[in-house]
Amino acid sequence: TQGFIVHPHIMTELPGPKARAMIARDAEVISPSYPRDYPFVMSHGRGTEVWDVDGNRFLDFAAGIAVCATGHAHPKVVEAVRDATGDFLHISSDYWHERMIALAERLARLAPMGEPAMSFLCQSGTEAVEGAIKLARYVTGRPRFIGFLGGFHGRSMGSLAFTSSKYTQQKGFGQTMPGVTHVPFPDPFRPLFAGADQGEAVLDYIRMLFERSVPPSDVAAILIEPIQGEGGYLVPPPGFLAGLRKLCDEHGILLIFDEVQSGVGRTGRMFACQHEGVAPDIMTLAKGLGSGLPIGAVVAKKRLMQQWKRGAHGNTFGGNPITCAAAIATLDLVESEYAANAESVGAYFMNRLRDLANDYPCIGEVRGRGLMIGMELVEADGSPAKALCDTLITRAFHHGLLLLSCGVSTVRFMPPLSLSKDEVDEAMSYLRSALDEAIAGPKG
Ligand code: PMP
Repeated sequence: TQGFIVHPHIMTELPGPKARAMIARDAEVISPSYPRDYPFVMSHGRGTEVWDVDGNRFLDFAAGIAVCATGHAHPKVVEAVRDATGDFLHISSDYWHERMIALAERLARLAPMGEPAMSFLCQSGTEAVEGAIKLARYVTGRPRFIGFLGGFHGRSMGSLAFTSSKYTQQKGFGQTMPGVTHVPFPDPFRPLFAGADQGEAVLDYIRMLFERSVPPSDVAAILIEPIQGEGGYLVPPPGFLAGLRKLCDEHGILLIFDEVQSGVGRTGRMFACQHEGVAPDIMTLAKGLGSGLPIGAVVAKKRLMQQWKRGAHGNTFGGNPITCAAAIATLDLVESEYAANAESVGAYFMNRLRDLANDYPCIGEVRGRGLMIGMELVEADGSPAKALCDTLITRAFHHGLLLLSCGVSTVRFMPPLSLSKDEVDEAMSYLRSALDEAIAGPKG
């Protein structure tokens, strides 16, 4: 961190001159489809801290969309990656090697299925979801799926068929994979079914679909995020996932948990579904798994995955040794200390946010688990305060705090799992200032 300016207070010139020049170059050659909300141009990072190219320091509470689980450039992850690069960079999944097998053994030990599990390794969350839905169709021979409104599972034509957290993700691309029926995600804060337990009501809704228009014998799988991520950091009511499990078992339907965002210690347990004690048949992982190196995994009950015939599914980069090394080092750290840290620091952070909510009526709800926390902003009439949320995130950037949003007006906090209480305190002071400025609105 030596030689970099530490700005405890508001930064007046953002983006700085170097950042401005790079953003201009980028605009000529990088796809404009990336949704970028404010001009942070990265130089380097350590732990929760990141620096931009002009030397400004920020606290990173976005962590590359919940990816930098062990913090930026954790020495043990960097060392594991360095070691691996010294051996070989790639060999392709046509061959065997130690790191690939060791990672799959670790995933089999950690898997929440309660029975032997196997893994298919890939590079991203999207590819993991694609693999999971292909496996579900392959082993059941059934064509249809149930997905959830507000879900996010990727942007390939199969995973995109489930994704619905923003309509712009679907618009303009024509027909995606057919066969997906969306049902509401139970949201006690914005109940869709008046006067009912939202979880029970959604289960009833699915039963009704089964009777009317979606024969359950046609349904290969139900795909759900155990905590809905991009859609608003929604924690389903207790018992809902268990209810889904039961419904699936009654009809021979597979249950797929997309733990791409919620997995690998993010919620204070290795996987979010473990808070509810509900086991999936298939689980998808990515994001935090490699601490930033691109790796994803389909983890499935062995009796399902071993049905895949030779050549049924594959890829070139699956099991890449560098990404496997990063994943093994990440799981070491998450298992030994960071899941527990996410639980305790997450509880501290959540309490501080709830205190803040007492002072600010525009904070409608603070929710989440561990270090997967959402803060929903509302207008006086309770409707989503989207403009306020967007302004808050921009103002926070100017105070040195990187945040992202989800849902319509929810600020999401997904810092590295190595976060300290001191960093929470520092972030809270920036957040409070940013909130005051956002509420006051633009001056002049
Ligand atoms: N599933 C979930 C739950 C996600 O949050 C995401 C990414 N936000 C994906 C899948 C897609 O992952 P990727 O961007 O790595 O393809």
